[in-house]
Amino acid sequence: MPDGGTPRALPEIGSRTEAGLPAGVAGERPSASPLAEVALAGRVGDRSVYTYRIPEALAAIVQPGMLVEVPFGPRALAGIVVSLNASAEAGIRLRDLKAVLDPLPCLTPIQINLAEWLAKYYACRLNEAIHLMLPSGIDRAPVITYSAEPEDGVGGRFTLTPLQTELLAAMRRMGSATATQLAAGRDGKAVRMALESMARRKVVTRVRGLGRAVVGERTEVVVVLQPRQFRPRLTARQQLVADYLQDRGGEASLTAIHQELGVDRAVITRMAAGRAVVRYTRQMRRDPIAHRPLMISKPPILTNDQHRVLRSIGASLAARDGAVYLLHGVTGSGKTEIYLHAVSETIASGRQAIVLVPEIGLTPQTVDRFAGRFPGQVALLHSKLSDGERLDEWQRIRRGECSIAIGPRSAIFSPFPQIGLIVLDEEHDSSYKQDRTPCYHTREVATRLAHMTGAVVILGSATPDVISFNRADRGAYRLLRMATRVRHPGALPGAGVSRESALPPVQVVDMRQELKAGNRSIFSRALQGALQTTLRRRHQAILFLNRRGSATFVNCRDCGFVAKCGRCDLPFTYHSDGEHLQCHRCDAHAPVPSLCARCGSWRIRYFGLGTQRVEHEVRTLLPQARIERYDRDVVSGKFGHEMILDRFARGEIDILIGTQMVAKGLDFPRVTLVGAVSADTSLNLPDFRAAERSFALLTQVAGRAGRAALPGLVIVQTYTPGHFAIQAAAHHDYAAFYRDEIRFRQEAGYPPFSQLTRLTMSAAVERECHEAADQLAAKLRQWLDARPGVGIEIIGPAPCFINKADNRFFWQILLRGANVHPILSEIPRPWVIDVDPVNLL
Ligand code: ADP
Ligand code: ZN
Ligand code: ZN
Repeated sequence: MPDGGTPRALPEIGSRTEAGLPAGVAGERPSASPLAEVALAGRVGDRSVYTYRIPEALAAIVQPGMLVEVPFGPRALAGIVVSLNASAEAGIRLRDLKAVLDPLPCLTPIQINLAEWLAKYYACRLNEAIHLMLPSGIDRAPVITYSAEPEDGVGGRFTLTPLQTELLAAMRRMGSATATQLAAGRDGKAVRMALESMARRKVVTRVRGLGRAVVGERTEVVVVLQPRQFRPRLTARQQLVADYLQDRGGEASLTAIHQELGVDRAVITRMAAGRAVVRYTRQMRRDPIAHRPLMISKPPILTNDQHRVLRSIGASLAARDGAVYLLHGVTGSGKTEIYLHAVSETIASGRQAIVLVPEIGLTPQTVDRFAGRFPGQVALLHSKLSDGERLDEWQRIRRGECSIAIGPRSAIFSPFPQIGLIVLDEEHDSSYKQDRTPCYHTREVATRLAHMTGAVVILGSATPDVISFNRADRGAYRLLRMATRVRHPGALPGAGVSRESALPPVQVVDMRQELKAGNRSIFSRALQGALQTTLRRRHQAILFLNRRGSATFVNCRDCGFVAKCGRCDLPFTYHSDGEHLQCHRCDAHAPVPSLCARCGSWRIRYFGLGTQRVEHEVRTLLPQARIERYDRDVVSGKFGHEMILDRFARGEIDILIGTQMVAKGLDFPRVTLVGAVSADTSLNLPDFRAAERSFALLTQVAGRAGRAALPGLVIVQTYTPGHFAIQAAAHHDYAAFYRDEIRFRQEAGYPPFSQLTRLTMSAAVERECHEAADQLAAKLRQWLDARPGVGIEIIGPAPCFINKADNRFFWQILLRGANVHPILSEIPRPWVIDVDPVNLL
């Protein structure tokens, strides 16, 4: 097999040049045995797929999508069969596919098609796209097995040690065995050495293969009581076990017997020997939501808005027309209820639904709502699941044992036989884009899948992605609006609730004025007062801070001026190490100003804020309050999220201080105050989506207040109160935001008016990274010079905004054009190609 390092080529649509062997003209050279194209797991070889012969014994079994074992050089590897209609090139000897590792296909034919599209669009290898769709637990560990050569061939030619003689006899008895199996009770290292020495002398044969799945199925031993007439006389302890089993209908798990009766396993073993009981092993499901109480819920009576929206979606579901709906509904307008109804219609028609939720929006509350409405039907694919739990959920989906999958972006690859509905909740969320190869966007994959299957897509958000909204505006998606919150039975108008929308009022505080008034605290007087009032009323508050709150930009505390790169109009980043400003788009450098360029003030440096600093300040201000931080540093472990949120829900925390994580989908009736401590930190990130992100965040955060009967208040602190994103968020006015933003995108030539691709490279030594970036940029410019009509522009190279992580340095090059695909095949590994990036930091 060729195993060189040639760069991959981006295939033309419809061609199969990417295949292990280029497809010959059909019928040109009929081959004797059928051939399979196999996508190997992991980064091996230089091709996306390799061709193997299917031995006669497997010919009737092998199907596309199956997990198989194939030889590759000296190794045995697992791979997925992607097609059976390969044809061989003359003169090449093909190797045989070795075994089928799983009797059921792991991918549906639709998914194989989807992977082919994904590999082309996102410029990755087909095997990378294929393996993206499989749970990691499906991997097989390599094993080495030994078997004895026929007796007469060996006889007397070598003298064997006593251990070797013993092992040889064992192998003859067992057929083939692994070193571990043969070692049983002996010195493992000695056994391995003895086997290797015999293998060298060809007394035994050594075969590399694949063993059991890395993650096994979870099983339990069940003990079954035999009918009385067959039972021998029992001891007292044995009688205890028999009574216990009798009480439980005749059977129980061994673990339960052991734990509840304190009876040792040996007792059961003796009972089994005496035929009083029989033991067997059964498969158990690792249920990730077993620890949550199931709260069965009935659908409420729908509002008029919900009826209207569901009529459209219902028509598409019935017609299976593959429509993509953009459901633009304010927080609390009842979007989740729409999803629940659409899911219910889908499963009633015998199809399945995938519900996608941003990683950190996958709160227990969300899961409980679906699990409670559709008991026993939901598979949960959370990123915190163990490999075993994930594998079990995936198996349930594959076997058709459930019909709803809920999870973050990777759940889009749930192998349901007949997908009828795909929901993306909070569709604007950036976690829908994978930031490592393959850098796919879940919305694009969902749309593609809908196109292939007729499934209906619902993209739901209070603040749709500008790209999505633009598509709806142009008629590619169908827009559905829900402009008002579902009225709560106890909700009263007035008392700070704006009448028409019932959304909480937003107060924008100008921090420049606070400074002028002598307030040097990070909290405005308005926010301090509101916190005190909230505590006095025994309500709850959330203080919100951007995750990159400690990001550094230069800002004038008197006039709000922000130092920007003149070429790119993006904020400069302050680097404390070299005391300079740098543009992370074009790599321009500038000295740190000592006076504001606009107003001449010396109060010019501003270094951002972290959650710890905010926590410290609140404790000083309100020593009696119960305060908790909720961010990535604090929330760790499998149930960390649930614990803090459950405590907040029970009212054990007065003030929750958090990052983006608090902005997602939390629904706490006693939260009446939300404070955005520094709206500018996200506004001043050097990314053209900074305004969009800030608007979305502020709007989402604002939606946390006054969800229930109690009216809420939102306070936004900023040095640029006139910014259109802040003004639009304050008025809950998406339309105004979109108008300004789309104009900016058009003027600056950003998506959707151009296509971007981000190329990133990392290295342990910064100079190497920089040089590689310069080299690639030069090569690409040369390529473009030779092709004047392509219309692709190269921006950079420049160090990434987050220039260093895990002791590696990062550099990037941006490509921009109407269509960047023609140039992508020129990009060598290990550059990461991110087509349509959502993050340029
Ligand atoms: P969104 O997903 O748009 O934020 P939700 O679906 O979570 O909105 O609805 C907000 C609140 O209103 C929830 O507490 C939900 O249970 C409730 N709700 C939704 N639809 C109805 C309805 N038709 N009747 C009564 N309550 C509803
Ligand atoms: Zn100034
Ligand atoms: Zn610049």
